[in-house]
Amino acid sequence: MMYVSTRGTAPVLPFQDAMRTGLARDGGLYVPQSIPQMSHADIAALAGLSYEEIAFRVMRPFVGDTFTDAEFGDIITKAYANFGHSARAPLVQLDNNHFLLELFHGPTLAFKDFAMQLIGQLFQVVLTRLGERITIVTATSGDTGSAAMEAFRGLDAVDVFVMFPHGRVSEVQRRQMTTPSESNVHALAVDGHFDDCQARLKDMFNDFEFRDGVKLAGVNSINWARVLAQVVYYFSSAVQLGAPQRKVSFTVPTGNFGDIFAGYIAKQMGLPIDRLVVATNQNDILHRCLTTGAYQTGDVSPSISPSMDIQVSSNFERALFDAYDRDGASVVQLMEHLKTQGGFDLSQGILDRLRDHFDSGRVSEDETLAEITASFASRAELLCPHSAIGVRVADQQRDVNTPMITLATAHPAKFPDAVERATGVRPPLPARMADLYDRDERVTRVANDLEALKAIVKERI
Ligand SMILES: *Cc1c(COP(=O)(O)O)cnc(C)c1O
Repeated sequence: MMYVSTRGTAPVLPFQDAMRTGLARDGGLYVPQSIPQMSHADIAALAGLSYEEIAFRVMRPFVGDTFTDAEFGDIITKAYANFGHSARAPLVQLDNNHFLLELFHGPTLAFKDFAMQLIGQLFQVVLTRLGERITIVTATSGDTGSAAMEAFRGLDAVDVFVMFPHGRVSEVQRRQMTTPSESNVHALAVDGHFDDCQARLKDMFNDFEFRDGVKLAGVNSINWARVLAQVVYYFSSAVQLGAPQRKVSFTVPTGNFGDIFAGYIAKQMGLPIDRLVVATNQNDILHRCLTTGAYQTGDVSPSISPSMDIQVSSNFERALFDAYDRDGASVVQLMEHLKTQGGFDLSQGILDRLRDHFDSGRVSEDETLAEITASFASRAELLCPHSAIGVRVADQQRDVNTPMITLATAHPAKFPDAVERATGVRPPLPARMADLYDRDERVTRVANDLEALKAIVKERI
């Protein structure tokens, strides 16, 4: 299985190298050259299997000969061993034909653990085999950073630097990034927005001298291995509700488009998915684009769902690549336009193709709080603000005859202020992390400046 860049000119790579590289050298994102297929019989055979067994069967064809079956099975077992729920991704019923997929039972209480815990194990096996040491730098709006630190802390082949927007993450998110004591993990509070952090990360990757000098690797949501890990729970949940005999739909609280893109891959593999619904907060570039065809960046307005506070949605490039029949040159043109004009317009034909797969909805701050209140009042379900956005959009758009699965992307205790404001209840942290507020914090504040950031990385590795 080989991987190609969405911009068409970077080297074609096997899984092991696409995974270590993150961003392709032409600025694009790696995608599989072809999508492995699962037949109805293959999907039906997933019923009743453990999460780990389903993960093995769904991901195995994408990995090629990078790992043996035994190695890959062991990687998956270790990746999910630290989850606080034996089902890993349990499905809870909200309403008639509406279900919540709880993706927040990992070590940092957000769905990013599904991908990051796997990546930690994948990197460990590959780097040990190669005798290599690498530097991981990541930009986070809150959840990626803590998930990366949790996955890589203490591994001696890796240094991890996490850039987060100073003052714009929740206290739980910040503490999860600033309290790990291992010397190979470094929290950097950048004076800027998440998009600034993401832009500086891209700058580092485009600085080939720096990139090669520190052996830079990326684990942001553009890393193909992360998307791949997220494909699994679309299968595990759909099968519980009767797939492949019955179609299901999904609503996904969306920011960088990684999680919902994994749903699109599941559909390409053969999972009978009816609708994939993008749910955004007030930072609604994707909803506007899918409604009008205009992908136009604006200012980020900080919200109570900070993990979705983005204006540039990196993984959307992968969907565009397919909509343009995998023509890298067309993607390059769009991305040039984005860089110089702050946006681009899609033709009606391209928009129609995207809409064949994706619907969208947007939820305001007031509506988000109202949904948290209503969900608690009517079903005693405490939702984090991101998940509440998903539930609200799903309720607006679902067809009652098709099961709708809304992805619950974070635990309510990760965003206790918003949840308390809406319900009067302050959700407690699970017992295994109850001492988070007592641990010492360690963080370096940095200007939104490439040279300053590069200097810190070089000095600490
Ligand atoms: C990262 C994140 C999202 C957005 O996911 P994308 O893959 O970036 O679209 C939504 N909710 C939570 C809690 C997150 O951490």
